[in-house]
Amino acid sequence: MMNSSAKYDVIIVGGGLAGLTCALHLSKHDLKILLIEKYEYPHHKVCGEYVSNEVLPYLRSLGIDPFTRGAVEISKFEISNKDGKKVTSELPLGGFGISRYAFDQLLYEKLKNSIDVVFETAEKLTFNDRLFTVRTIDNKSYHGKFLVGAFGKRSLLDIVLNRKFIRQRSTWLGVKAHYEYNIPRDTVALHNFDGGYCGLSQVETGAVNACYLTTFRSFQRFGSIDAFQKKILSQNPHLDHFFKNAKLLFEKPLTISQISFEKKKPVEAHIFMIGDSAGLIHPLCGNGMAMAIHSAKLFSELFLKTFQQNDFQRERLEVMYKRKWEESFTRRLQTGRMIQNFLLHPASANIVLKLARAFPSVIPKIIKKTHGDLLI
Ligand SMILES: Cc1cc2nc3c(=O)[nH]c(=O)nc-3n(C[C@H](O)[C@H](O)[C@H](O)COP(=O)(O)OP(=O)(O)OC[C@H]3O[C@@H](n4cnc5c(N)ncnc54)[C@H](O)[C@@H]3O)c2cc1C
Repeated sequence: MMNSSAKYDVIIVGGGLAGLTCALHLSKHDLKILLIEKYEYPHHKVCGEYVSNEVLPYLRSLGIDPFTRGAVEISKFEISNKDGKKVTSELPLGGFGISRYAFDQLLYEKLKNSIDVVFETAEKLTFNDRLFTVRTIDNKSYHGKFLVGAFGKRSLLDIVLNRKFIRQRSTWLGVKAHYEYNIPRDTVALHNFDGGYCGLSQVETGAVNACYLTTFRSFQRFGSIDAFQKKILSQNPHLDHFFKNAKLLFEKPLTISQISFEKKKPVEAHIFMIGDSAGLIHPLCGNGMAMAIHSAKLFSELFLKTFQQNDFQRERLEVMYKRKWEESFTRRLQTGRMIQNFLLHPASANIVLKLARAFPSVIPKIIKKTHGDLLI
C-alpha cells in the first residue's frame, strides 16, 4: 500500500516539454504534483523548433493547441549536401514551427494553477522506504512517492546519479538563434556542412530559427561562432546566403555543449525518466520533442492505470514502463544514429542525396522510420 504521509504523489524534476506534458496529464487526476524547474518561463532553448504533427491529437486532448500561438504549418522537407545540391520532399505527417519560448510557456500557463511549481535547481535525490526526497540548491527539501526525471539532455542530476552516459565523453555542441530572413513558410530545411548540419524553419513570430549541431573538434579551430559560420557553414551556398543576408534577432546565439547520444536507461534509481533524460534522438530526425511528449504520455497512462490498485508494486511499474519505452523508441533511436552516420560522411551523404534525387519517395520512407504514428 502507498505511504500516505508523503507530501506529493509525484514530483517531476525538469519543466521542458516532457515534464510539462507529464504534469499536465497527471494534473487532470486527483493527485498532488510538484514540478521543479530551474528557469522561469518563458525562455529560449537550443532546439530546431520543428515539431512533428504526430503529437497534435494528444496535445489537443490536453487542451493545448500550438496554432492559437501562431504556430506555422510545415509540410515540406528540403535537404542539401555541402555543395548545396538539394532534394525536396513532402513530410509524411507534416509538422509545425513554434519557438520553445512560446511552446513551453503555453503548456506552463495551462497547468500553473492546478499543480505546485517551484523555480529551483534540484541537486540531490534520495530514496528511502518508498519516499523520495529532492533537495534543491537553496537547501529546500520536497518529498514525494514517485519521482519523474525530466531534466533533459544533461543535468547536474545525471552527475549526482552517476549515470553511465555522463562518464563518456561527448563532443557535440548545438547553436541556435532567430533571424529575419525569407524562407518558404511551409518548409523545414536541413543543410549539411563539414562536420554538422543546420536546420532552418519559421516559428510563430515569422522569424527563422537557425539551429545547428556540430562537433567541438570542428568548432574549436575557429574560436568564435561568427568565424565558424563564415568559414565552415558558409561552404554550403544556402547557408552562405543565409548568414550573409539574415539579420540576427538575438543579442547573440545560444549554445549548449556536451550533447550526448549515448544510450540511457528509462528507469534509474527508481526514477522514471522521460524525454531526453531517457534518451535523445539525433536532432536531424526532428522528432525529439514529439518523443518527449510521447514518453510523458506513456508514463502518465501506465502510472494512472496501476498506482491505485491494491496490489500495486513499484517494481512491476518500472519493468512495464521500461518495456513500453523500449518498444516505442529503441528503433527510432537506432535509425536516427544510422542516418546521422551517413549524413556526416561526405561520401555517403552524396550517395544518399543522389539516391533521393533519383527516387524521391525514399525520403518520406526514411522519415517515417524515425517518427511515430499519430498519438491519440
Ligand atoms: C541542436 C538540437 C536541435 C534540435 N532540434 C529539434 C527539432 O527541430 N525538433 C524536435 O522535435 N526536437 C529537436 N531537438 C530535440 C529536442 O530539443 C529535445 O528532444 C526536447 O527538448 C526534449 O525535451 P525535454 O523536456 O526532455 O528536455 P528539455 O526541454 O531540455 O527540458 C529539461 C528541463 O529540465 C530543467 N532542468 C535540468 N536540470 C534541472 C535540475 N537539476 N533542477 C531543475 N530543473 C532542471 C531544464 O532547465 C529544462 O527546462 C533538438 C535538439 C538539439 C540538441
